Amino acid sequence: MGNNILEEFTKNSRNTAYKFVYEEKVEKVRVFDNWGYEIKPEVAVSLIEGMTNAYINMSQEDMIRLKKQNADNEIEHYIFQNGPSAINSEFRKTLKKDWGFTCKTCKKKVSSKNDTSWWRIYGHYHQSNDKYCSKKCIQLVIDEIQERIKFRIYERFGVENN
Ligand SMILES: [Zn+2]
Repeated sequence: MGNNILEEFTKNSRNTAYKFVYEEKVEKVRVFDNWGYEIKPEVAVSLIEGMTNAYINMSQEDMIRLKKQNADNEIEHYIFQNGPSAINSEFRKTLKKDWGFTCKTCKKKVSSKNDTSWWRIYGHYHQSNDKYCSKKCIQLVIDEIQERIKFRIYERFGVENN
């Protein structure tokens, strides 16, 4: 059996943002759309029923799945915004003086004389002067940093890490 009020409300509100206002003294939550209109009481009641079906009676399995889904979403956003990401730079051809470094991962000597490009990590919270010889060498470090980010966010969302 479908719920027409819910169906219509969700269909019509695809492009509407809602704000939840908590009235502390009376412990009430009221819902307004982004134009300042409060939702209709019958819509609110239908929403509560629908949300009860979705959340109050949620199985342990679904609870775990939801937490993991939110955590994975957060990880993706975090990495998109803050890195780490690999940056590849070419050695300039017109250098007056050659320069070089030792790859942080494999310890290979890299120089502007013998190589065409080099790698470094860019990231909001991952600045360092370490340099790398190749995509392969930098990827190992990026994977490691991403694992740490994942672990931290899983822990915050209460997701079992395995
Ligand atoms: Zn290397």
